[in-house]
Amino acid sequence: MFDFIKRQRRERLTAEPFPEAWQEYLRANVAHYACLTPEEREQLHDDLRVFRAEKDWEGAGGLTLTDEITVTVSALAALLTLGLPARTDAYRSVSTIIVYPAGYRAPERRPLPGGIIDESGSWRLGEAWQHGPVVLSWADARAEPCNEEDSEGRTHNVALHEFAHALDMDYGTAEGVPRLHNPEQYDAWQKVMDRAYQRLRADRYWGREQVLDPYGATNPAEFFAVATEAFFGNPLRLRRRHRRLYATLRDYYRQDPAARLLRYLRTLPRPERSPATETAAEDAPAPAPPTPRTGRAWPWSES
Ligand SMILES: [Zn+2]
Repeated sequence: MFDFIKRQRRERLTAEPFPEAWQEYLRANVAHYACLTPEEREQLHDDLRVFRAEKDWEGAGGLTLTDEITVTVSALAALLTLGLPARTDAYRSVSTIIVYPAGYRAPERRPLPGGIIDESGSWRLGEAWQHGPVVLSWADARAEPCNEEDSEGRTHNVALHEFAHALDMDYGTAEGVPRLHNPEQYDAWQKVMDRAYQRLRADRYWGREQVLDPYGATNPAEFFAVATEAFFGNPLRLRRRHRRLYATLRDYYRQDPAARLLRYLRTLPRPERSPATETAAEDAPAPAPPTPRTGRAWPWSES
């Protein structure tokens, strides 16, 4: 009965035309939007409207929620589940999305030696609670999957990170193992993820450059969240440097962001060359990469 009512409500919700202003938010804030096929975009539009309508939203730290915020965050949640059979129902245990304008100090009591309690809290960009809220810094969710590279060329998006934790916690506690598609996949998942996790721990120790943020070496749950950020944020580099990890995530998410990106890049016009630039080519600086339709610097690179 409840399923019938829910289905009817969702049908009504997605029957309306998708607002043009919302498409602008997606073009501006979600890099992947430009790479999706028309069918994938349709599905993303439907899923994000369902997600947005079915969750409670709260602005925190003085932030007033706007359509741009709720639509962008919902789209990033829906991007992760675009290929999953449950779609946004995979977030069934997430009740509320709390959004801060930027990083925030979370209240925390920490016992120190001598019976002292440290109540200064800890600085965070986001957090996800089992059967509870997902908390995000808008500044770090809006940074889109691929735009904010750190000094090592890694990319960050706190929304992708926290929603990956939510998918992980939909299948028990946060252990870096989401609900896979069949029971036979768990052994292979464990083997590939554990190997990549151990490698990241060693690389963090030796300070070697990584596609993956060393924070992923904290524990297997953080590893899955960090790997998800790289999978959507820097798919070409992840596929090249961590082939098995990429394939495992591709099989789970049932999406291939690297192939999607290459397909999109082929649709971009090539820069025209005039005879003058041909003769001066050796002295000229390398041509700038094509600018994506999002209007931001092209975020992905294979180097
Ligand atoms: Zn985390």
